[in-house]
Amino acid sequence: MESFECQGCGACCRIPNGIVRVSESEISRIAAFLGMAESEFIANETDVAPDRKGLVLKSRTDDSCVWLTEDNRCRIHPVKPDKCRTFPYEWINSDSHEICAGLKKLNRLLTID
Ligand code: SF4
Ligand code: SF4
Repeated sequence: MESFECQGCGACCRIPNGIVRVSESEISRIAAFLGMAESEFIANETDVAPDRKGLVLKSRTDDSCVWLTEDNRCRIHPVKPDKCRTFPYEWINSDSHEICAGLKKLNRLLTID
């Protein structure tokens, strides 16, 4: 997907009922970036996943990730989880083409003769 360009809309960071799982190594690198102890990060910045298998980043009541700024920036961008880093290059959901402004733009470009 070489011609994909993120439009910075932040839609992928506020997907209703979306979750971002964090592995042990991701927790380590995010906590280090924030200058926090891993235990502090786990206690204050993660929730148990809905399926009770592992931890997820916290979301706000409007479904946005707590690390998303008002201008759609990620406050932990340099160390964000792999799930965030690899979208939409390595995975998408069935509705991603309706949600992601970059994919919408790419679709428009691909449909122009
Ligand atoms: S960690 Fe950053 S990129 Fe990932 S969902 Fe949260 S704000 Fe978005
Ligand atoms: S939804 Fe797509 S265009 Fe919008 S911030 Fe996420 S990757 Fe970028």
